[in-house]
Amino acid sequence: KELSSSQIRQMYLDFFKEKGHEVMPSASLIPHDDPTLLWINSGVATMKKFFDGSVVPKNPRITSSQKSIRTNDIENVGHTARHHTLFEMLGNFSVGDYFKEEAISWAWELLTSPEWFAMDKERLYVTVYPKDTTAKRIWNEVAGVPKDHIYEVEDNFWDIGQGPSGPDSEIFYDRGQKFNNLAEDDPENYPGGENERYLEIWNIVFSEFNHKPDGTYEPLPHKNIDTGMGLERVVSVFQNAPTNFETDLFLPIIKQTEDFSDGKKYGQVKENDVSFKVIADHIRAVTFAIGDGAIPSNEGRGYVIRRLIRRAVMHGQKLGIEQAFLYKLVPVVGQIMQSHYPEVLEQADYIAKIVRSEEDRFNETLKDGLELLNEMITEAKDKENKQLSGKTAFKLYDTYGFPIELTKEYANDQGMTIDQAGFDKEMEQQKERARAARGNAKSMGVQKGLLTDIKTESSYIGYDCLKSNGILK
Ligand code: ATP
Ligand code: MG
Ligand code: MG
Ligand code: MG
Repeated sequence: KELSSSQIRQMYLDFFKEKGHEVMPSASLIPHDDPTLLWINSGVATMKKFFDGSVVPKNPRITSSQKSIRTNDIENVGHTARHHTLFEMLGNFSVGDYFKEEAISWAWELLTSPEWFAMDKERLYVTVYPKDTTAKRIWNEVAGVPKDHIYEVEDNFWDIGQGPSGPDSEIFYDRGQKFNNLAEDDPENYPGGENERYLEIWNIVFSEFNHKPDGTYEPLPHKNIDTGMGLERVVSVFQNAPTNFETDLFLPIIKQTEDFSDGKKYGQVKENDVSFKVIADHIRAVTFAIGDGAIPSNEGRGYVIRRLIRRAVMHGQKLGIEQAFLYKLVPVVGQIMQSHYPEVLEQADYIAKIVRSEEDRFNETLKDGLELLNEMITEAKDKENKQLSGKTAFKLYDTYGFPIELTKEYANDQGMTIDQAGFDKEMEQQKERARAARGNAKSMGVQKGLLTDIKTESSYIGYDCLKSNGILK
């Protein structure tokens, strides 16, 4: 069935609504009341208050499509078929209500029923935690998954150190032999291994233990279900795409980017495709993050946005794009996501302004910075030196606005490393100098810091814009 991404998202929510779940709108990407988390990175991250018992939900069955950001995947983007910085996690949750039997049989029903996702059963594989014989039995006897499509995987235990934990099951879609990137006898050649042939689409966590501070596990009185399905991955299956990017969620952004490049087209040169993918991915994340109230800066969330914009601009450069262009992609993102997130298009002008000012700022120094970087790399290579000095990396950061991760990635692509410790030392010294210059002024709180960042980093768009958008009072 060829369905649009909006239809697929809606179908998931409708299915669980029929099973008695309350449909929750996506929460903001910016966590509130959770200082341990920079970004909401999964559906369950917004449900902590229910799972730890501090809030009792109206309905113990909840479903949502939650926008999520994962910074640990930034460098995967462009290189794997399946990773994004911003993605949507479809999920169904049971807060002390139903458990393994329902979670498993409903998952199977949604995936394979002709009225729902109608996926080919032959192509689906599931993994279980070896000791979780219950889940294995239910997959086999209740759902009817043949034993040779069930794999026991030691890693399938969800545990964050303390608090609720438990075994999980992951569901993989077999994309076929042509995506096999490993030798036939490679030990990683199974669903759950490193084989690109098997795409992880869904993770179902059976949260049944309390991991206690003393390291022991005790059974939870109320067992929970928490699941996460990557929308973009499922859409790639429906739309028969070789990667998540050849779908209606990304192609319009890629097409628009082609128009800005000096005649480069997607799908012709592998290296250019990486750049197209990075740009399409990062502008989505940046657009949503700014829409949720974050702003480029040198710290925390702001730094993530800055890093994403600069990485995207650098890839734009590789495609021959000399002018600011990312900001023009913001309304394209808004349009694609309109059915479920109308607020993005509504805020598009404001978001584009912020993106543009950040692009302009980086474009001023990008060329000179790249020149210096290339020069230093050549020089190091001439001396058979495989490491870029901390001093150079710091100069690139401080004078030319190159996020350290970007310099590192660039150097790695050339077979070089950077002297991270040397960079850290330079950074520390600079902070020391700044501290001395400030005298004894008390360090500002986080909230205040956020406002200072806005003032200094975004003066370009002016106070009025920030005021009218409720960011400055
Ligand atoms: P992977 O092994 O592919 O990195 P994961 O095991 O880290 O995925 P989970 O933490 O289990 O992912 O998240 C639940 C689901 O969310 C995954 O099954 C996948 O469909 C989706 N997902 C996770 N990370 C990403 C990402 N960076 N981009 C897109 N989808 C993702
Ligand atoms: Mg991962
Ligand atoms: Mg995984
Ligand atoms: Mg997983």
